Amino acid sequence: MKRFIFLGAPGTGKGTQASVLALKYDLPQISTGDILRKAVAEGTDLGKKAKQIMETGGLVSDDIILSLIEKRLQEADAQKGFIFDGFPRTIKQAQELDALLSGTDGISGVIYFQVDEDEIVKRLTSRRTCSQCGLNYNIITDPPPTDLKCRVCGGAVIQRDDDKEATVRNRLVVYNDKTAPLVKYYQGNDKLYTVDGAQPVQIVRQKIIDYMNRF
Ligand code: AMP
Repeated sequence: MKRFIFLGAPGTGKGTQASVLALKYDLPQISTGDILRKAVAEGTDLGKKAKQIMETGGLVSDDIILSLIEKRLQEADAQKGFIFDGFPRTIKQAQELDALLSGTDGISGVIYFQVDEDEIVKRLTSRRTCSQCGLNYNIITDPPPTDLKCRVCGGAVIQRDDDKEATVRNRLVVYNDKTAPLVKYYQGNDKLYTVDGAQPVQIVRQKIIDYMNRF
């Protein structure tokens, strides 16, 4: 059973790698950020609660996130394993996840994407995203079509509000404070695999594949 967590600051490439590797291994990519953005777009109760927090780069409460995850893990496609992208983000979330998986062989491994902070700011502020299918572009390395229509689905390519510089800086403060401690948590459980996320995408991908194939 492959149950993986892709851990790292925003902009380290975990979402990009998760979407390709989820296809390769036929696993669901479970991104709490994507679930929340969908709820915001649909204007659900959850979306209303999450909207402002997300716009400022804060974290949505552990209780909300954990109830989302608990439901998601009950769906049929999650029975064969998963790749978590952007979850867990706090020690509490990690502990509760361990509790949810008790009675199974638990998390297979945690891939930690290490990238320095200046590089992250550069990447995130140049990121653009399809508002419909979520595909990421980068105005420097992978620009969207000039008409700003997604090359896959035709949706409008935009800059996420939370990719604007002030919010990016705040997301990094929140990451260092709340999420970075998970590195030690998973190191302690002997689950951590660190990858240098500053390397080219294909090289990072191959390293992760070599690691995931061990499970
Ligand atoms: P992401 O796309 O993973 O960067 O998530 C976008 C935003 O959604 C974050 O900045 C948080 O406000 C919120 N969010 C996503 N995942 C979580 C989580 N596991 N815990 C708390 N907030 C989250």
